[in-house]
Amino acid sequence: MEKLSNPQRTIEVIKKYEFCFQKKFGQNFLIDGHVLDKIIAGAGVTKDDMVLEIGPGIGTMTQYLAEAAGKVVAVEIDRNLLPILQETLADYDNVKVIHADVLSLDLEKLVQEENGGRPIKVVANLPYYITTPIIMALFEQHVPLANVTVMVQKEVAARMKSGPGSKDYGALSLAVQYYAEPYIVANVPCNCFMPRPNVDSAVIRLTRYEEPPVQVKDEKMLFKIIRASFNQRRKTLQNGLNNSSELNFTKDQIAAAIAEAGFSPSVRGEALTLEQFAKLTDILLKA
Ligand code: SAM
Repeated sequence: MEKLSNPQRTIEVIKKYEFCFQKKFGQNFLIDGHVLDKIIAGAGVTKDDMVLEIGPGIGTMTQYLAEAAGKVVAVEIDRNLLPILQETLADYDNVKVIHADVLSLDLEKLVQEENGGRPIKVVANLPYYITTPIIMALFEQHVPLANVTVMVQKEVAARMKSGPGSKDYGALSLAVQYYAEPYIVANVPCNCFMPRPNVDSAVIRLTRYEEPPVQVKDEKMLFKIIRASFNQRRKTLQNGLNNSSELNFTKDQIAAAIAEAGFSPSVRGEALTLEQFAKLTDILLKA
């Protein structure tokens, strides 16, 4: 059967099933075989891998994944796509489609059941309205992962990769870089999708660290402090931590911790590295 990456074939399937694109589900389907080849190569998918695909759509990337991987589990929220997937994936016996909202699934349990708890690869052209919650759920739930290779909005990829001093640096950069090493696999223009999104996209691979690059006594507290520091971007670190509803330190404790960590009282959160946030967290934990 001809692949769906041929735009003509995608149009035929859409027409046959009278499928209506749903904006609320972030439905922009890939129609470019070169981009799909780059994603599969970038993710390093082999026959030894189980791949979790989030949002298979009409199955365009799923067809490529099924050919490269040992097994593919694809989670799709839109029930209107299920009969289409039944037809487009009929030639593959190593694909399982689950009808669910990926954010409501127990992914650790899924990896246990589908891959005996061994690390999986996640490959997806993500629905952009929930990119960050999906990535954070994968890392924070400690799902056994080798890597996550995803199509995201170009600006979001830049945020995940950036460091102190960049305008893109923020809580997402630090969270991603605590868990994984980011690498941009490809930039993807909007004409590679149907319908075309209003933004350009990029494929980013996040390779999970076996151990985080910094040691901290309380991971949850580290992220509360990071969120508080970036909540009010133009304020000082001290004000950000004072004004956070997630933290209970006094003004004096915060000022003393910032001094003990060796920072100026007027320092801003956006100037601190992950290592410096970890140091500040450990000092505040003693307060
Ligand atoms: N993988 C396909 C492709 O590349 O052509 C479709 C990608 S499209 C950008 C995103 C897909 O995610 C859509 O099929 C959409 O219905 C699905 N989706 C949106 N929200 C979801 C959720 N919470 N859980 C699972 N799938 C979701």
